[in-house]
Amino acid sequence: MTKVRFAPSPTGKIHIGNARTALLNWLYAKKRGGSFILRFDDTDQERSKQEYADAISADLDWMGIKPDQVVRQSERFPLYDEARDRLIKAGLLYPCYETPDELERQRKRRLGRGLPPVYDRSALKLSDDDRQKLEEEEGRKPHWRFLLKNFEKTPFETQRTEVFWQDLIRGHQVVDLASLSDPVLIRGDGTYLYTLPSCVDDVDLGVTHVMRGDDHVTNTAVQLEVFKALSDKDLPVFGHHNLLQDKTGGGLSKRLGSLSIESLHVEGYEPGAVASLATLIGTSLPVEPKAELSELSKLFEPEVVTKSAAKFDPEDLKGLNSRLLQAMPYKTAKARLDELNIGGGEAFWEAIKGNLTFFNEVSYWWSAIQSPEKVDFSQEDLAFLGKAKQLLPQEPFDEETWSLWTKSLKQDTGRKGKALFLPLRRALTGVESGPELKAVLPIVGRKETLARLP
Ligand code: GLU
Repeated sequence: MTKVRFAPSPTGKIHIGNARTALLNWLYAKKRGGSFILRFDDTDQERSKQEYADAISADLDWMGIKPDQVVRQSERFPLYDEARDRLIKAGLLYPCYETPDELERQRKRRLGRGLPPVYDRSALKLSDDDRQKLEEEEGRKPHWRFLLKNFEKTPFETQRTEVFWQDLIRGHQVVDLASLSDPVLIRGDGTYLYTLPSCVDDVDLGVTHVMRGDDHVTNTAVQLEVFKALSDKDLPVFGHHNLLQDKTGGGLSKRLGSLSIESLHVEGYEPGAVASLATLIGTSLPVEPKAELSELSKLFEPEVVTKSAAKFDPEDLKGLNSRLLQAMPYKTAKARLDELNIGGGEAFWEAIKGNLTFFNEVSYWWSAIQSPEKVDFSQEDLAFLGKAKQLLPQEPFDEETWSLWTKSLKQDTGRKGKALFLPLRRALTGVESGPELKAVLPIVGRKETLARLP
C-alpha cells in the first residue's frame, strides 16, 4: 500500500511552500487509496514547540488534509539509539573530533591542492589512545559521521561511486558518493541531525514514497546509503519537487508571516484557492481553482511538476479566490450565508458572487442591497429619478424588468450609458459599482425600489 509522510519540524508556522509538499504527498497517496503520515521532526527539543505542531495540524486540516497517522520523533529516541548502536557496531558510524575551525582549514588546504573539499576521514586514523586523549585531556566530545561506501580497498582512496534512483518528478538522478563528505549523523552534544531519525522512521513506518523539495536531492543520495545500511527492505521511491519562490526569485522562509497558511486563512482565503495554487503553480497544468482536494487529486500526477522554480505572486491568489467563489454553488454557500445572518437566498448569492474577492464581503453587499447609504443627487438627476419612479414596471419583477425599465427611461429622457444607469445604481445600492442591477432589482422588489428613488 502507498504510504507517504509529511515531515515538518515544528519550529515555526508552515507557509504555502510547505503546504505544497504536504499536498503533493496527500494527493498522490489518496489517489492510490494510500495513507498519509504527519511526522513531526521534533528532535531539536529546544526549538520545537507544541504550539507550532498544533498550528501545523490545524493548517493541514483547514486545507482538507486529514492524516491517517501522527508521529513525533521526540517519542521515538529508543529506535534511533538502537540504529546508532547498530551502525557503530558495523563500523559505519565513527567518532570525529575536529572543531569547525579545523575542518575549515582542512577544506581550504584540500582546495589549494586541487582536491575536492570533502572530509578527509582523518578521524578514522585515530587509535583508541588518541581518542582517549582527545576526550579526557582536551575535553573534546565526538560528533559521528556515516562512512559512505565510495571506496574499494581503503577509505582514504575514494573512487567514483554512483548512486542513482528514478525520481518521480525529476526522472533519472545520479549522485557520485565520492563528491560528498561522510555526513555527520550525530552532533558533539549527542543530538541527532535529521538524517538518521528520518531514515529510521521511513523504514519503521513502511513509507513507500517520499516527496519533498528539491533542496533534498543530495540528501537523498546519502539517505539511500543509510537505508541500505539499516534494512534490506525495499527502498522508498523519491520525488523532488521545485520550490516556490517569491516574485523576486527569493525563497519563502518558514518564518515569512504573510504567506503562512494561518495568515492566508485569517485573511479570508478559501482553502481550495490556497491548495490549488500551492499544487498547480510550477506545473504544466493551468492554475485553476478547485474547491476540493479530490478534484485536484484527479488532475495531479508528479510528472506534471516542472523542473524550474515556481514563482509565486500573492496577487494570483486573490484572482483564484474570486474565481472559486464565482463558481461556488448556492448549496455550498448557503450554510455560510446563514451563519452570517444573510438572507436573500439563492437570488442574492447569484447576484453578488461575481463581485467577491473574499467570502466575507457578502456582508458588505447584503447591506448595500438591504439598506443602502443615502446619496445626494444633482437637480437633473433628481428629475431623471422622478421619471424613473413613474416608469418602474409593475410586479412581478424578474431578470427582464431592468431592461424594460431602462429601455423606456432611455426613450423618454434621451439619456444613455452612464448617465442612464449610474443614478439608478446609486439610488438602489448607495455605491457606484457592484452587482448587475438586473439581478438586484428582483431582490429589492417594487415597493422598496420606489422608496429608494428620491
Ligand atoms: N524535517 C525535514 C524538513 O522539514 C523533512 C525533510 C523530508 O521530508 O525528509 O526539511
